[in-house]
Amino acid sequence: MKNLRDFTYPELSREVEALGERPYRAAQLYGWVFHRDAIGIDSMTDISFALRERLKPEYCIKGVDILHVKESEDGARKFLSALDDGSKMESVLIPEQDRLTLCVSSQAGCALGCLFCMTGASGFTRNLKLSEMAGQVFAARGLLKDGERITNIVLMGMGEPLNNYDNVIRFLSVLTDGKGLGFSHNKVTVSTAGVVPGIKKLGYDTNANLAVSLNATTDEVRSRIMPVNKRYPIAELLSALKEYPLKNKKYITIEYVLIKGINDAAEDARRLVKLLRGVTCKINLIPFNPFTGAAFKRPDAEAVNAFHKIVYDAGYTVIVRASKGADIQAACGQLRGL
Ligand code: SAH
Ligand code: SF4
Repeated sequence: MKNLRDFTYPELSREVEALGERPYRAAQLYGWVFHRDAIGIDSMTDISFALRERLKPEYCIKGVDILHVKESEDGARKFLSALDDGSKMESVLIPEQDRLTLCVSSQAGCALGCLFCMTGASGFTRNLKLSEMAGQVFAARGLLKDGERITNIVLMGMGEPLNNYDNVIRFLSVLTDGKGLGFSHNKVTVSTAGVVPGIKKLGYDTNANLAVSLNATTDEVRSRIMPVNKRYPIAELLSALKEYPLKNKKYITIEYVLIKGINDAAEDARRLVKLLRGVTCKINLIPFNPFTGAAFKRPDAEAVNAFHKIVYDAGYTVIVRASKGADIQAACGQLRGL
């Protein structure tokens, strides 16, 4: 059975053509599936009975099943969903003053094994399909309270989006399509641990925002905490960022997880300032979120402030990002899919 949520608009057009149907049917079906959130073939009431009967043996509209939801004291909501083959994925709704962000997973698990990340510590299961990434948006909508609306989407849940490149691009096309899920490109961000070949293509394949998890200022430290750095060292990563095609007013977000005694010294802050010269960016400092079994600690507030001051004084836009949902293991790096 093919899930209609697994087709982008051009793909659905080809399906419809193969069925010998007129092209406008593709637009109708696509609108029902992604814009109007149809839950079954029969709910698409302006599709003729005959076509619905033809679709039924081959196609379905299938969502993801939420297994459980946890709500944090700060309002963050984490939900765990089950996939067809028994794998699991997590997503988080994060309310902030003027926005409500959904943090979407791109893979079940992650193969990159960053030492400070619980997802990395739990290994890799598989890439998520278009229907499973879009399914997280629909599932999250079902959890909204009165008056709430998802304003932003970040691909910062489980997994490395650029290691599931094609499906992520297909998801972004549906997500940012006015006739699909309808989010503006400016409200969508893809975060990568620095998969350079993907970064080199991404700016040509989508207008969504890019975030890069830098997390260290020397290859020695970065390779130790992020094994992906052995393949794509800092110099290569930064040169890809300098060449990244940014549209008007856009910038790259640099994420930097501050870990006590590892990458939080004044010297690191000064090196960071130098490294990022020539990269149009904003910097998010994220104090490390501990998890059971983690070998690292969060720096104390003074170290965080001192680091922030050095970067700020050098003229960068830099904020300290408080991760929400730490009490329910929903904060950055705490998703494990269990
Ligand atoms: N794989 C992608 C996207 C998911 S991780 C990436 O690495 O960018 C999302 C963010 O959480 C990354 O910036 C990562 O550096 C950060 N992170 C991971 N573990 C963390 C932890 N324990 N505390 C704080 N941030 C963490
Ligand atoms: Fe994977 Fe990102 Fe976690 Fe690294 S930080 S293990 S790339 S999810």
